[in-house]
Amino acid sequence: MRRLITYRGILCGKFRQVARLMGLFALASMLLSACAPMSQRPNIDEAAIKEEVKRQKEATVQSYLDHVKRAELIGENIRINSASLCPKKNYTLGLSAFSPVLQPDEWKGALHRIGYKDGLTVLTVAKGTPADVAGIRPGDFLVNVDGTPVTKDKEQIQKALVQLQQEGERKLVLLRGEEKLEVSVTSILSCDYPIDIIISDVVNAFADGKKVILHTSILNLAATETELAMIIGHEIAHNTREHITSKQVNKAVGMAFGAALEILLGVPGAMNIGADIGGGVYSQEFEHEADYVGLYYVARAGYDISQGPGLWRRMGASNPRSISHGSSHPATAERFIALETAVQEIKEKIASGKPLLPNERAETQVKRPSVSQSE
Ligand SMILES: [Zn+2]
Repeated sequence: MRRLITYRGILCGKFRQVARLMGLFALASMLLSACAPMSQRPNIDEAAIKEEVKRQKEATVQSYLDHVKRAELIGENIRINSASLCPKKNYTLGLSAFSPVLQPDEWKGALHRIGYKDGLTVLTVAKGTPADVAGIRPGDFLVNVDGTPVTKDKEQIQKALVQLQQEGERKLVLLRGEEKLEVSVTSILSCDYPIDIIISDVVNAFADGKKVILHTSILNLAATETELAMIIGHEIAHNTREHITSKQVNKAVGMAFGAALEILLGVPGAMNIGADIGGGVYSQEFEHEADYVGLYYVARAGYDISQGPGLWRRMGASNPRSISHGSSHPATAERFIALETAVQEIKEKIASGKPLLPNERAETQVKRPSVSQSE
């Protein structure tokens, strides 16, 4: 005979299940208490923990700003010295400025405590730039740009940052402690690829076509100024050589070809496979090109490029699988040798007084109409 299961019966069944589970948990916690630590530690002061949270946040923002300063000084040096090679340009005075107002709320308190006031503080001044020559120094507090006061207002701070990147002469008023400085600085050309720093323990750096994004872990790995310049130069080269757009176009072509196979021949999943194959085409070649072109940017900025390839030897040592196995990126041993060869090429150009320009393949050079000999 079929048994009729009522709503009440289901509820009672659930209740019994829950009661059984609770009993099991009670038994488990009794057993686990037998495995508890045996030492009697001193009591922890909750107020002291809160204070330590503050100290650790201060250490975090200080370390983040140290990374920003280091990357910004090297990045600015590269951007200015290779401005003529960059398709996307802007203007710079050679300084970077920082405001807690533009940072996430959770870091603002720590930034105030380590001395950053709301408003705009000069963070870095790259050597030999107009800001440096005008006597502006890190820590100067920017109070007026071209007659417009810089307040604590977010929009005004953003507007001032845009003004600092415009062509021509800027009239700045700065405070250095109690001292008031009034300076005129004229901007110079620069590559328009700003650097963003992300706090992350994943060793990574990438370019998105507009910016260079560096994880703090890769900044820790870059032991010397040249090594960090190599990383920044590589990512700027991805942007100047428009690798991101090329990859997206290749991906779209692969996807379209796969879609045709899927529709016309009924090949399942061909569209996604086509997109993956298309996106991966020339991937290693793009990486080699970014290494090669980036090395020229580093050389033009005056760094000792002979130290550069060493970065890949250490990258290989920290990730042994990458020594001889490449995937989207070439293997580290291959990158080391390719860079060493490029270092020789650049050194020969420097020795013979040739301009420091990457060699171009004949078919990628702009074709000019030939002049007929008979005319
Ligand atoms: Zn790359």
